[in-house]
Amino acid sequence: LELSLQHASKLEAVGRLTGGIAHDFNNMLSIVIGNLDLVKGSLQSDERVLRRLESAIEGAHRCAELTSRLLAFSRRSPLQPRALEFTSFMPGLVKLLERTLGERITISTDLAEELPDVCVDHAQFEAAIINLAVNARDAMPNGGRLDIRIQRRAPPEQDGREGTRFVEISIVDTGRGMSPAVLARVFEPFFTTKEVGKGTGLGLSMVYGFVQQSGGIITVDSSPGQGTRFVISLPALAKQGSASETVDQAARVETTG
Ligand code: ADP
Repeated sequence: LELSLQHASKLEAVGRLTGGIAHDFNNMLSIVIGNLDLVKGSLQSDERVLRRLESAIEGAHRCAELTSRLLAFSRRSPLQPRALEFTSFMPGLVKLLERTLGERITISTDLAEELPDVCVDHAQFEAAIINLAVNARDAMPNGGRLDIRIQRRAPPEQDGREGTRFVEISIVDTGRGMSPAVLARVFEPFFTTKEVGKGTGLGLSMVYGFVQQSGGIITVDSSPGQGTRFVISLPALAKQGSASETVDQAARVETTG
C-alpha cells in the first residue's frame, strides 16, 4: 500500500511539474527550431557546419517529441469509459499491432467465449495494449511471440470486491525478461533502461494509471532470458438481467470445484 501511495504521489507531482514546464518549454523550443531552420537556409556552403546544424535540429525535434509526450501525460484528459466488447474490439487492435510490431513478432490471441464487457476508455485501452506490445517487441530484438489471452476470472486475491467478476488480459512475450531490480521499478515514471532518445520511462506508468483509474489491477512477472507476462484485471460490466449472471457464476464455481 505504501508503495502505491508513494507511486501515486510521485505520479501526481510529475503531472503537475510537467504540465507547468512542458508548455513553456515547447514554445521556447519552437523558437530554437525556427532559428536553426533559418540559419540552415542561409548557410548552404560549408558541409561540416551544415551537418552539425542538422544534428542540432534533429536533437531539438526529439526534445519537442518528448515534451509533447510529457504534455499528453500531464494532461491525462479525463477518461471516457464506455462498454467495450472484446470480440468486436480486438481484431482491429490486433491488426494494428501486427503492423506496429513487424513480421518478426508472431502475435497470437486467445479470447474466451462469452466474455463479459468491461467499462473503459477505448482509446486509452488501445494505447495501453500498444504500449505493452511495443515494450515486448523491444525486448525481442531477434523476434519472438506475443500472446494475448483474455479470460474471465474471480476477483484478484485480497481485492475485497466480492461478487464482482473480472476480465483478465494477459500479455506474454518471449523476450529477454527483466532482472528483479528492473522488475521492481517498471511502473515508476521516468524509469527506463533504454538509451536516451529511445525510452521515456512513461509508458508503463501511463498504463498503470489507466488501469487504476479503470478500477483494475495490473501485475507483472518476468524471468530473465525467458520472457515477461503482464496481467491486467478489469472489473466486468454487469449484464442487464444480472440475476442469471450470478447463477451462471455459481454454476461455474461448482463445476470447477
Ligand atoms: P520505456 O519503454 O520508455 O523504457 P516503460 O515505462 O514502458 O518505458 O518501460 C520501463 C522499462 O521496463 C523499460 O525500459 C524496460 O527496461 C522494462 N520493460 C518493460 N516492458 C518490458 C518487457 N516486456 N520485457 C522486458 N523489459 C520490459
